[in-house]
Amino acid sequence: MPDNRVRVRFAPSPTGYFHMGGARTALFNWLFARRHGGSFILRIEDTDRTRYTEYALRDLLDSLRWLGLDWDEGPEVGGPHAPYFQSQRLPIYHEYAKKLVDAGAAYYCYCSEERLAAMREEQKRKGEPIGYDGRCRYLTARERADLEAQGITPVVRLRMPDEGQLTFNDVLRGDITVDLGAMRDDKVLLKSDGYPTYHLAAPLDDHLMEISHIMRGEEWLPSVPYGLILYRAMGWGPPVYAHLPVILSPTGKGKMSKRAGATSVLEFRRIGYLPEAIVNFLARLGWSYDDKTEVMSRDELIRHFGLSGVSSSPGQFSYDKLEWFNGVYIRQLDPDDLARRLLPFLQEAGLRADLTTTRQLVPLIQERLKTLSEAPKMVDFIFADEIEYDPALLVQKKMTQDQARQVLARAIAALEALPDFAPEAIEGTLRPLTEELGLKAREFFGTLRIALTGKEVTPPLIESMSIMGKEKVLFRLRKAAALLGG
Ligand code: GLU
Repeated sequence: MPDNRVRVRFAPSPTGYFHMGGARTALFNWLFARRHGGSFILRIEDTDRTRYTEYALRDLLDSLRWLGLDWDEGPEVGGPHAPYFQSQRLPIYHEYAKKLVDAGAAYYCYCSEERLAAMREEQKRKGEPIGYDGRCRYLTARERADLEAQGITPVVRLRMPDEGQLTFNDVLRGDITVDLGAMRDDKVLLKSDGYPTYHLAAPLDDHLMEISHIMRGEEWLPSVPYGLILYRAMGWGPPVYAHLPVILSPTGKGKMSKRAGATSVLEFRRIGYLPEAIVNFLARLGWSYDDKTEVMSRDELIRHFGLSGVSSSPGQFSYDKLEWFNGVYIRQLDPDDLARRLLPFLQEAGLRADLTTTRQLVPLIQERLKTLSEAPKMVDFIFADEIEYDPALLVQKKMTQDQARQVLARAIAALEALPDFAPEAIEGTLRPLTEELGLKAREFFGTLRIALTGKEVTPPLIESMSIMGKEKVLFRLRKAAALLGG
């Protein structure tokens, strides 16, 4: 049933390359929105101006588009709750900060950085929990006026209750009760530079943007009570929360991190992973349809995705698994499509490939490719002018030098006479020679393989020869014959 009340958001802070963990969060939200016919909102949380970068935003938008995670509201598409960049919503944050102060739910704090640092030191020394000690909580109007006369710009802090308990529900974790007395930390909502903190901007925007479900990494779970206190002060109801399990590194030790290898979507894209494979792989990282189905198309994922299949225990990242998915999706691709996707990888590697040749290569390599970037080294010999190899390799095991010479001489003569260089014609003229020379096909073609490719393992040789063309083939065979002398 389409439910247009389902409104979910992905709310990244673009400070570095967009990584797979973020992509997993975005994907779960996107799938949920598409599953229910709701809206997927992209909100850019760029209020920490010291960490925000332009390239990170570009990389984020490019990566989301490349993965096919289109957003219904957000940067470049707009929407009824624009702007979707938090840095452009400052008047809204100021308005609500003031409302919260007027309602007694927040207050101005004039404490200097030095005082706060000293306070934290003191708390550390005494082994007390670190948090604001509440010094400015009960300033009189008079005291405030004095401080302002000194030119001090205050921050706005949330007034947390001194005691009591707060219970909220997380779909994946059930009811969670926190002791407010123990967490008495009056978070800053509005900084003195006029920018809001996460604790104001995120919950406020979630409400104003009518977000129905919040799916995000579990590291945000501790922030929920602050948001709920703010909602309570404003008389607003909470959204549904689902804090997604962390992604463990492939070693299982700790969270996924740079040390284990590639982490950004861009890196995987450059290595030649297909977005289809990444989407399928990420969907299975913390969510499952049943206990056996691995390969699911985007449409199937949309049809089946739901919070009931999301696990609350961590998912483990596996490069091998991702590579396996990629191989599956490469094999499923239509050959024309694969050719189009391979071409930039071949050109990037300096090969003079065009779409026609690349399309001819596809049947030779489609079955064995695990990533697109493996292609150039499989087929570089086809494009190269010169190839290098150790001439001793031309003489296959259990073969004499003279036999190798004969292989080359007979192949050259047979191919020179061939008007048609289609694979069947090449095969038809070469195959009988192996018997005539009393050699095994492996030996005969082994010598030719080295002469033509310089490698011992290559895509099917006859097809490769056909693509290389008669001139290049004969040139290489003659050169090999010359290397063997005689
Ligand atoms: N801006 C936060 C982040 O970078 C968003 C957390 C949330 O989804 O509430 O992850």
